[in-house]
Amino acid sequence: MLADRHSLSEEEYLFLIENRDAEAQALAASLAVEIRRRIYGNHVYIRGLIEVSNICRNNCYYCGIRAGNPHCERYRLSEEEILLCCREGYALGLRTFVMQGGEDGWFTDERLCALIRQIKAEFPDCAVTLSLGERSRESYQRLYDAGADRYLLRHETADAAHYGMLHPAEMSHNNRMRCLTDLKEIGYQVGCGFMVGSPYQTSEHLARDLKFIEEFKPHMCGIGPFIPHRDTDFADRPAGSVELTCYLLSLVRMICPSVLLPATTALGTLEARGREKGILSGANVVMPNLSPESVRAKYALYDGKISNGAESAQNLRDLADRMDAIGYKAVSTRGDAAGFSR
Ligand code: SAM
Repeated sequence: MLADRHSLSEEEYLFLIENRDAEAQALAASLAVEIRRRIYGNHVYIRGLIEVSNICRNNCYYCGIRAGNPHCERYRLSEEEILLCCREGYALGLRTFVMQGGEDGWFTDERLCALIRQIKAEFPDCAVTLSLGERSRESYQRLYDAGADRYLLRHETADAAHYGMLHPAEMSHNNRMRCLTDLKEIGYQVGCGFMVGSPYQTSEHLARDLKFIEEFKPHMCGIGPFIPHRDTDFADRPAGSVELTCYLLSLVRMICPSVLLPATTALGTLEARGREKGILSGANVVMPNLSPESVRAKYALYDGKISNGAESAQNLRDLADRMDAIGYKAVSTRGDAAGFSR
């Protein structure tokens, strides 16, 4: 029914989630793959991920780089180091740079705008994606005016009460949602998203996430399994399931046919073939790590995070071979959302 309508009630989403079995999962994957094939062919977009800082003012209970973790060894890349990453990525063929980091106050609008302008001047054929958390509308506008193209900000959960169980009181679900609306209105290609299997998550929460995605119509959507980090309150919680994550990827592909949907690092961390499974469920983006090797282990959002092998931008051949092996082609063009123009 979803494949025809792209819209269901929250109760219908709940039904799909609660009645998932091997047959439903396989059917959802085949429908999602067919929809993606019609829009994007067999292309999988490759983005270079630069983890610019693990310094963060927030204390999200699930996150290894939260402010309250005294064991996290902090780092921040300089503007020059970030530019070097872009140069290396460009030489490797990458045409999208994703700057992600904790909410580090050092990255003021002035510094970020200057950096974005420099990247755009040096690599005019590249897209700049930011994933730097919650900022004011004015700030998002300045960064957009400086040339930023896309912004990733997972909503984390569409249920305000659930949001309150994952974040301290000073963080607000309303503000997270305000940020997403502002980003969309300003003109970014916007990505929302959530963790699968986050603590206290119920099927009802997931149904609400799907309904939110249907209504918000993001250009990108980051869906990955929750993985515990030893230095958080959720250290003993079980990780999310690869299968449920893949099923939700398929449903999101059906809800938003042209969405850019990453097979996330977390999926690849939980299972060696997790990324391939994500692609075979409807995902069409992979974001290998372009950060300097010396800092990769420090951007530890969860235990066991992979950053070598096919996960490393320096090893694009391996990634291309893996995509090839499942019938897909790794491409490093800008890869904007279908139908989007700035
Ligand atoms: N600070 C920015 C923000 O809040 O959007 C970007 C960095 S934040 C670390 C990126 C994403 O990592 C979060 O949106 C969250 O969903 C994910 N993440 C954090 N801890 C995680 C965990 N333990 N398991 C899986 N994903 C996690």
